[in-house]
Amino acid sequence: MSGSGPLGLDPALLDILACPDTHHSPLTVDEPAGELLCTTCDRAFPVRDGIPVLLLDEARHRNAGTTGA
Ligand SMILES: [Zn+2]
Repeated sequence: MSGSGPLGLDPALLDILACPDTHHSPLTVDEPAGELLCTTCDRAFPVRDGIPVLLLDEARHRNAGTTGA
């Protein structure tokens, strides 16, 4: 532990992280889920080994409806 932030991410990095979609909204950390959330498009981005995967292809929609599997 060397003073890293949630999910092992650098707080300074968290500050500049933004959704890769066109709105580029700031992301929120969901520590229990281990994900970064965009509140604008309701996408959740995984964090793997302390590296945020900010790819639309890798994101999942949190409120994708009731038929998701
Ligand atoms: Zn977004």
